Amino acid sequence: MPAHPDLTAQNAQFMKKIHKLADNVYSAVGYAASNVHFLVGETGVVVIDTTETTQAATNILTDFREISDLPVNTIIYTHSHRDHISGAAVFAEGRDVEIIAADNFSSDLVGLDETRPAPNAALMARTKRQFGITLNDNERVNLGLGPGDRPMKGMGAGYIEPTLRVSKTTKLAREGFELELAKAPGETPDHLIVWWAAERILFSGDNFYHAFPNLYAIRGTPYRDFDTWADAMDQLMAYAPEILAPGHTQPVFGAEVIKTALTDYRDAIRFVVSETVKGMNAGLDPITIAAALKLPEELAQKPYLQEFYGHIGYASQAYFAGTLGWFDGNPTSLGRLPAAQEAERFIALAGGPDAVLDAAQSALENTDAQWAMELCDRLIAAEKNVKPARAIKINALRTVADATINAPTRNYYLLSARELEELG
Ligand SMILES: [Zn+2]
Repeated sequence: MPAHPDLTAQNAQFMKKIHKLADNVYSAVGYAASNVHFLVGETGVVVIDTTETTQAATNILTDFREISDLPVNTIIYTHSHRDHISGAAVFAEGRDVEIIAADNFSSDLVGLDETRPAPNAALMARTKRQFGITLNDNERVNLGLGPGDRPMKGMGAGYIEPTLRVSKTTKLAREGFELELAKAPGETPDHLIVWWAAERILFSGDNFYHAFPNLYAIRGTPYRDFDTWADAMDQLMAYAPEILAPGHTQPVFGAEVIKTALTDYRDAIRFVVSETVKGMNAGLDPITIAAALKLPEELAQKPYLQEFYGHIGYASQAYFAGTLGWFDGNPTSLGRLPAAQEAERFIALAGGPDAVLDAAQSALENTDAQWAMELCDRLIAAEKNVKPARAIKINALRTVADATINAPTRNYYLLSARELEELG
């Protein structure tokens, strides 16, 4: 079965192109997971964000050199995620350049902050699955917010430490551009947005992109504060931008179009919060709340709120866990049996391992791949019929992968299927 056509259509957001936003302002889109912006002055260039690999940064710089051969003197990081900071050395071209970031610049990604006892092995394995790293180009349609077929050479390699950290809203003149830098915590707490008033261009980092916001990343992220992110939309709107240059996906043009998009983004986040809170107050568990949660029709149809990257159900569960913690409120859950023990008893009750395997096979054949996986998980946990259970689960994973429009979910399913296959 081919990938979901809507996910394939999202590739239009990553057409490789250097967009001209205004005289002397450009955005390189589609070369990498994230965008690079250029402000070209009389004697030098300001770069905003640098992509995830030195190879992607090199490709962008090569094409940018058709536009200008001036040196890059200043680099601004909108936030600390790897896909924005890893190509800085390429743009610096061996010189000492100014690197600007927020004062609380700090990554929740693997390895950047060695002082924290992060579960790095888990994060690395899950990050690989979310982004489909090592999947082939047919399998990895895109990243939801970036192209699937981006260069991987030099991933994380060209990072340079910030030389100037900004703690509050700061006016800054660089290369003839009068810029305003403001902290705008949203997708991450360390977001720094850049405003150029002369042409009303706002560089918004990852607080907005053409997909439902990633309020929880399945690679494993700490709680992202929903209210803060929604508030950031008001902060962006207050500038009344006429051009919005996001960290991912195409630039957005037109004051009204941008205002509507930012309002919808904010309202969608607030809706997830209010519906989840209703469910919590009604004593429902997070999975039940998430399964029932749908955006109101007027929001659900907006192209930039489709779940190509963020996922409404994952967001709702993250809000539950981020506010009430892991406990679902049901006292049974305080003493849950470990998976292997529950599986043993379930399998016995269901008539034995062969009956459960047959049920898994028919669930798969009857387009109930999720139930097939849940049955297979019990066989695998109880170490009964492990090989045939794995084989059914592999098929089920590939079936659900092709049915989803959510790129991280698709990539996670497909890479997990391959990992199971490798177990033999
Ligand atoms: Zn990003």
